[in-house]
Amino acid sequence: MVDMRRLHKNPSDPPNIPDLENDVVAHDQPNKFGVNPLKLMGGFIVCLMGLSVLFSISVIFKDFSPNSDSNIWNVADATRVLDMAPPRDLGQEDDPLASFVKHKKKLHSSGFEHDDKLLNGLLSSLFDEDSCLSRYQVASYRKESPLKPSPYLISRLRRYEVLHKRCGPYTESYNRTVAKLRSGELTKDDDCNYLVWVSFSGLGNRILTLGSAFLYALLTDRVLLVDRGVDLDDLFCEPFPEASWLLPLDFPIIDQFKSLNQKSPECFGNMLKTSNNSSSSSSSPYVYLHLVHDYDDHDKLFFCDQDQSFLQNVPWVIMKSDNYFIPSLFLMPSFEQELHNLFPNKETVFHFLGRYLFFPTNPIWGLISRYYNSYLAQADERIGIQVRVFDTRVGPFQYVLDQILACSLDNNLLPEISTNESFITSPENQKSKAVLLTSLSSGYFEKIRDMYWEHATVTGEVIQVSQPSHEGYQQTEKKMHHRKAWAEMYLLSLTDKLITSSWSTFGYVAQSLGGLNPWILYKPENETTPNPACTRAMSIEPCFHAPPFFDCKKRTGIDTGAVVPHIRHCEDMNWGLKLVNPIAESIA
Ligand code: GDP
Repeated sequence: MVDMRRLHKNPSDPPNIPDLENDVVAHDQPNKFGVNPLKLMGGFIVCLMGLSVLFSISVIFKDFSPNSDSNIWNVADATRVLDMAPPRDLGQEDDPLASFVKHKKKLHSSGFEHDDKLLNGLLSSLFDEDSCLSRYQVASYRKESPLKPSPYLISRLRRYEVLHKRCGPYTESYNRTVAKLRSGELTKDDDCNYLVWVSFSGLGNRILTLGSAFLYALLTDRVLLVDRGVDLDDLFCEPFPEASWLLPLDFPIIDQFKSLNQKSPECFGNMLKTSNNSSSSSSSPYVYLHLVHDYDDHDKLFFCDQDQSFLQNVPWVIMKSDNYFIPSLFLMPSFEQELHNLFPNKETVFHFLGRYLFFPTNPIWGLISRYYNSYLAQADERIGIQVRVFDTRVGPFQYVLDQILACSLDNNLLPEISTNESFITSPENQKSKAVLLTSLSSGYFEKIRDMYWEHATVTGEVIQVSQPSHEGYQQTEKKMHHRKAWAEMYLLSLTDKLITSSWSTFGYVAQSLGGLNPWILYKPENETTPNPACTRAMSIEPCFHAPPFFDCKKRTGIDTGAVVPHIRHCEDMNWGLKLVNPIAESIA
């Protein structure tokens, strides 16, 4: 069995909350217990104070502990303890407890207090908290969501976790199934079947396809194992308790992953082409599923019930995809009822899968929480602006800047600037907005920041603009680049209102995780600012960019965006498909 503590324990990780009690004592001991009797007496007094502080803190953490009946941390009590404590111990800027209490006070005063650490039962309670601090702390950074997971989704996730533990890496079943793969033996193992997700494409794409792969695994009782690629284990906490989701590095065909493509003899589409009988079963111990944007009509038969039977007896399915393919699973009759039970509200699919699967590891949570506390926490409102320009040149481009401003101003997300240079509002009435802008280029941020520095706003609001990084261009195989990209997607998901860019999975991840219905900047044509500049999304779901247009029963072409009311064409890509909630207004 994998030691889950070891998987994420890193000396540079921020300390976990229960450890903070010990940290308070540990920091002070060397200074307070010297050989000098006066020092000794002083030490004794301080020790008594320390014990009383420790006692008070332990009272607080009793409420904060995972086993506590009450999940609400009483901020008033915490504040009292802070006031009692010697300032050098708890008042220092770099003291994690102090900054956490400060943050909680801020959130509390802005109506943010909300501490359902297990997200209404979505998350398992079996985790070791310090292995993944974001899992337990992020609830304090978000407003309470009106969206609740269905009891059926919760029960299916718990059932999946049991399956994963029974079949996960190096279990008896895993070892047996791997041995068969090595020997090329084909007999079906009734016990455990697997879906291996191969790391591929940009980070936003990877997050969306991994979510899609997990849902497919859930629907077909397969165990999801992930190829970690260069950095996956660095980015995400383990999502399933007591068993790793990482494919072991000694997996027999791991070296062949890179070369698997549409032409591989094990490719699903290819095998269907040659077998001429979709109801037959694979003759290989593994099948490669090519669900990449360039997939052909035979690969797309994956989305037909009758062709799914081809995969039923295959213990190992290896999948490569760069698409959020979940909308098309909703069009398959065999999954229809189950999907309806899992997600009665169809626009919450990735919202819940994402919040269940993807938590930033401790170093990335450090990037996120430090940035949030420095630049976003103080504001009355947080506006996220995600700028993604699909151009080989880095920019900035004037037409994109004009578009961002037009969208922000037309929709009252940001205020107009005043032409009156002497216009100054009284500080008491000043509301503040923090703009978090993400982009590969720093140009848009600089221009908008300067605009609000050089001019007052007509509303008197104070606008603070910041951008975490400007990496210049998309990079691969670079740890810090991916860490920053993930931190920025996550930070965007913590804003109150969000503007995203057309076609960008980076933005889709942020909107779905955050439960934010974004304003989408239209894709500019001919380097011209579109008019209108943006549109409000129909739902918080991502868009499937390369869906099949095929009627599986009639074996003819069909508009799959016009079959059921909960699947429509996307706002930003008119051939794409996205899930919407047809019976209610979308989330504001
Ligand atoms: P998409 O191409 O917009 O669909 O998003 P992906 O995340 O799949 O791929 C784009 C990649 O470019 C990201 O994963 C980052 O590596 C990089 N990137 C693009 N925009 C940004 C940004 O605003 N901030 C950072 N840090 N990286 C970005």
